[in-house]
This record gives sequence, structure tokens and C-alpha cells, in this order.
Amino acid sequence: MIPIARPIIEAEEKQAVLEVLESGMLAQGERVQDFEKAFAEMCNVRYAIATSSGTTALHTALLAHQIASGAEVITSPFTFIASANSILYVGARPVFVDIDERTFNIDPSLIEAAITPQTRAILPVHLFGLSCDMDAIMAIAQKHGLVVIEDACQSHGAAYHGQRVGSFGTGVFSFYPTKNITSAEGGMITTNDAEIAERCRAIRQHGMRQRYYHDELGFNFRMTDVHAAIGLAQLKKLQRFNQIRQKNARYLSSRLRGVVTPLTPEGYEHVFHQYTIRVEAHRRAALIQHLTQQGIGCSIYYPIPIHKQRFYSETLGYRQSLPIAEKTASEVLSLPVHPALRQQDLDCIVQAVNSFFE
Ligand SMILES: *Cc1c(COP(=O)(O)O)cnc(C)c1O
Repeated sequence: MIPIARPIIEAEEKQAVLEVLESGMLAQGERVQDFEKAFAEMCNVRYAIATSSGTTALHTALLAHQIASGAEVITSPFTFIASANSILYVGARPVFVDIDERTFNIDPSLIEAAITPQTRAILPVHLFGLSCDMDAIMAIAQKHGLVVIEDACQSHGAAYHGQRVGSFGTGVFSFYPTKNITSAEGGMITTNDAEIAERCRAIRQHGMRQRYYHDELGFNFRMTDVHAAIGLAQLKKLQRFNQIRQKNARYLSSRLRGVVTPLTPEGYEHVFHQYTIRVEAHRRAALIQHLTQQGIGCSIYYPIPIHKQRFYSETLGYRQSLPIAEKTASEVLSLPVHPALRQQDLDCIVQAVNSFFE
């Protein structure tokens, strides 16, 4: 079976973990600081704050911006559930704006119509490794005085007109094992704002600025030095991993027939967290069955847009219709693109897809 995702853990990661274990200093410490510094450099920002997951990083970033009960946050309905759940955690309301079917990302031309006096923030998601249209989004945010929190959990190293994602507003990343780099579990917040950085550091550690003095409610969202050691070793390989993902994507796009291959607009650097094709909805199940029989792991990201998830539609009462997101969810299929693929795996994927449509 060719898996849809596979982390690459090599000698460097193992050695780094052993060093931490032997040092006796396991909790948030020096390795976390090293990882933060290196990650901030990669994103070209002043500050980076490590957390226990991408979800806790989103939660922390929203709290640091004081987004709370009564506030509305505009986001995409076509993403992993954490993007929207984190908005609920702080008591705010996710407001879903439909997507652009060519990029799978939020459609900036629809954002202004969703702004109300309660809107505090836009939370664009750079899905599958492709940046959102950040010029358009930043212009709207500026005009309406809104905070921008970028969910870059799938886009480590991606860029928009040469600028790294996570450096436009407050950025949020995940190091879950399937992401472009991993720390097993882990997250990171990136920002150029000293005050936001300082608040994030406090919130991640029970609101503590001075040892055992607590001025606000915080959480235990710390990253351990064990996880940071893995993340730091992986970060050194990010560029290589992304280049292989891009090469694999080019190979697939130049050979696949019968499907819509992913778009990389001019001026964008796509890092292909997923390689997502579109097929006619009524043929997708048969294609999945065909690929599975040929030993190819493929997966639907995401089968149900968030506003249609039972918790959102039934429990929270979302009744909206977002036609592009709904149609997209019925047509997408992600194929393996990760850097552990061999040439024969790529050829096998091409052969299997093309034979289905012949
Ligand atoms: C993975 C992911 C998250 C959450 O990250 P975790 O580390 O799994 O908590 C949030 N948003 C998006 C878009 C993701 O892909």
C-alpha cells in the first residue's frame, strides 16, 4: 500500500531525542527556545511561540487577540474542524464565507458582505499548502480594522509573492505527523507584534509572567523539549521535503488524465501538503475503489464542510448554504505526494488514475 502520508524520521531526530532524554531536562526548555528561534527565522518574523498542538496554538492566538464572547470571526467552511472549533473555544462565533473552487481557499470577494459590527477577525486557512490571496484579505482587514489570524497548519514554508505565510498577520502552524514537518504533536504561533507574543507566552503557561504570579487565566499548552528536538531536526529538512513535494506534484500534474489537477496561481509558492484533484462527484467512489484495489492510499479532505457537520448544523443551528464548498467537498480526492514516495510509486499512481478513465 502506498500511504497517503508518511513522516520521515531519520537519525538526526532520533539522536536529538536521545540527547534531550539523557539531559534530564524534558519539559519546555532550551530546545523549545531553539525551535522557536529557528522557526521565526524561517517565517521571517520577530517572534515564534511553541505550543502543544496546532489547535492549542489557534486557541492561544485568538485569546491573545482578546477575541471573546460576542465576537464574530470570518473563516473558511472547507478546512479541518480545528480552524472553526478554536473560535468556539473562546466563545466567539465562526462566520463561514464560501471558497474559490480553483484554489480551495476562502474567496476574498465574498468577505466584505459577511462583515457585521461584531466582526473582530478574519481567520484565513492556507489549505493544502497554498496561500490565500493575502493582498485582498489584508486590504479588507485594514479597511475594517480587523485582526488577521492565518491558519497555516498545512503550509510551512509556503509563500505569497515572496512573503512567507504566517508573517502577514498572526500565524499558526501544526506539527502533527502528517504535516509537512512534524514534532509528533506540536504547534507554533508566529508574529511581529511584541505584545501579542508576550501574551501568547503567558497564556500557554497558566497566565504566568513572573514565576507563580498569575494575572490572567491561562492553560497548560506547553511544548516539551522532546517534541521541540524532533521539530528542530525536521525544520532543517523543510526546504528539501517541500521541494520533493513540489517535484512529485509536477510529475503527477504533467501525466494525470481525466481529472482536474491542483492550481498554483502566478506568484504563489505551493508546498503541497496535499495533492488534491477534482473528479465528477458521481465517479469519485468508483475511482477510490479502483485506487484502493491498486494499493494506492487516497483520501477525501474534506467530505463535509464545517457548516454541514452535525455539531454545527444541528447543535449550533447553522443553516447556511455555501454552494462552492459543498460542491467541492463532493468532488475532491487527495493522492499521495509526500517526500517518502519513490519513482515507482508515482508511476503506479499515474497508471492507476489514467487506467480508470481510459
Ligand atoms: C492540522 C490542522 C489543525 C490542527 O492542528 P493539530 O496539531 O492537529 O491540533 C488546524 N487547522 C488545519 C487547517 C489543520 O490542517
